[in-house]
Amino acid sequence: MGIKEQILQLKSEKDAVIIAHFYQPLEIQQVADYIGDSLGLAKIAKENISNKHIIFAGVRFMGETAVILNPKKKVFLPDTEASCPLADYLSGETIQSFKDQYPQSPVIVYVNTTADAKTHADLCCTSSNALKMVQRAAKEFSTDTFLFGPDKNLAEYVRRRTNYNIITIPGDGCCPHHDVLSLQQLNQVQADHPQAAVLIHPECRPEVQERADFIGSTGGMITYVKNHPEIHEFIIGTEVGLVEHLRWKNPNHEYYPADPNMYCADMKKNSMDKILQTLQAIGNPTAEKKYQIVLSKDVIEQAVTAINRMIDWS
Ligand code: SF4
Repeated sequence: MGIKEQILQLKSEKDAVIIAHFYQPLEIQQVADYIGDSLGLAKIAKENISNKHIIFAGVRFMGETAVILNPKKKVFLPDTEASCPLADYLSGETIQSFKDQYPQSPVIVYVNTTADAKTHADLCCTSSNALKMVQRAAKEFSTDTFLFGPDKNLAEYVRRRTNYNIITIPGDGCCPHHDVLSLQQLNQVQADHPQAAVLIHPECRPEVQERADFIGSTGGMITYVKNHPEIHEFIIGTEVGLVEHLRWKNPNHEYYPADPNMYCADMKKNSMDKILQTLQAIGNPTAEKKYQIVLSKDVIEQAVTAINRMIDWS
């Protein structure tokens, strides 16, 4: 039996569901029960899962979010070393130091943050709903000043579309795999493919965003492609896993990575072998420990408020 068949069989035997982010290797997306971006997967983790075990093919903060939303289920990360350099910019301690300086200002954190950071937040957001969350928060909290982190480029995206005072915390946070895309590189790809629509993720630099036909999350980019059948070429300004996903799901168009260096090594730490090993470990308490994400009751109870508020307002 091939590895794909073994995974599918064990998944059913162990009452497990596989959730995968769009940036995962394509073969993992192809055995997943659900594929999505951060917001879509958070909603799925909260509302759609009846299985006892969740295997999260993504990075650590995503698995932590699944634990926070499903404290009674066991959540596994096939490679527990898969972290997110962007999330690592913002600790709970850093947030607290900013809160001490701006005690009246709500804290809005990107979902790409550690569970510890979320315990200090009033609200979470994703790249697909950041603007909407800030606008709603302005009404609910009756303020126009927010502590927002850790992504400086997403903060600038919101700042340019509102009149609010967005204080970026810590100030220099960014995703290295989105911030790498330069205007010079985009110019070159556009020169090579002048007919292509340019789709850019808001984690990219502001000057690159300014050149986009569409700015949005990975889920938003997929919707844009589906809604524009008259366009046949797309330059994709996000992690290259989405290019693979689009070529798989919508093979009638051409997709060009805005920069082949937009490659998240952490997202690629998961593999089919590791997913199989995780499934094999389920049911063996000692072996499970290698893959299971465990958070304290206190962290779960404090972090869930910001995530649930986001889901309720989405
Ligand atoms: Fe984090 Fe960037 Fe990798 Fe996404 S692509 S997991 S934001 S480092």
